[in-house]
Amino acid sequence: MSFEFCVLGSGSGGNSIAFWDGETSFLIDAGFSCKEIARRLDMIGVDAKDVDAVFVSHEHVDHARGARVFRNRFGSDVYCTPTVDTWLYSRYSLAASPDLLPGEPFDVNGFRLRPFEVPHDASQTVGFVVNRGRKKVTVATDLGHMSSAVRNRFKNCDAIVLESNHDVQMLKDGPYPIYLKKRILSKNGHLSNIESAATLSTVISDRTKNVILAHLSRENNTPAIALKEAKKHLSGISRTVKVVPADQFVVCDIVKI
Ligand SMILES: [Zn+2]
Ligand SMILES: [Zn+2]
Repeated sequence: MSFEFCVLGSGSGGNSIAFWDGETSFLIDAGFSCKEIARRLDMIGVDAKDVDAVFVSHEHVDHARGARVFRNRFGSDVYCTPTVDTWLYSRYSLAASPDLLPGEPFDVNGFRLRPFEVPHDASQTVGFVVNRGRKKVTVATDLGHMSSAVRNRFKNCDAIVLESNHDVQMLKDGPYPIYLKKRILSKNGHLSNIESAATLSTVISDRTKNVILAHLSRENNTPAIALKEAKKHLSGISRTVKVVPADQFVVCDIVKI
């Protein structure tokens, strides 16, 4: 029942996460060009031709950019919610399969995905609980705030991929225009380091061995600051959890589940 996953890259320039078990493989998001996704998959020993499905969390370009070409070139099915499907068609001329429904399980061979809605300023945004047998990984890369319902999705996980977008003070002091600062800080924007770290401190158990901090802002955050905040909140909670900030340009280490 074991499987592996790898954050191929994460940030406002593109997001994609690969999951595979030797028989089945799929992507959550395709926010890089098709060529770049294929190149990064090759780096971790996954053949793009073997990718069975692409699940698009929402229509923002950093999550959907490469989905149409990837589907056309490699034949992978692209799945999203009916709401997001409308936008994928109008923005990217992508006719996806609108078969994802928040709260409803979706099976890909031995994997079961359960999308759940998160607050973000797209038409609709979902995170994913990925199960294979009793193994569990939960992913949410774009969310404005943490609700108790979303927090519960991160409990009892073997691994977690959670947004840690910005340091609030860096954002406030930084170069972004006021409207953009307000957007990021809003309830439907992006999750700050402190919100992410506080969430992790309430959901991590001895079972949780890996945490990937996702969607770090290049202007309003640094990997060191995000990591420091997470470790501060996690000190005394788990000695065995490995916390790693994801990078926009560097493929993360493969995580074995
Ligand atoms: Zn994003
Ligand atoms: Zn987004």
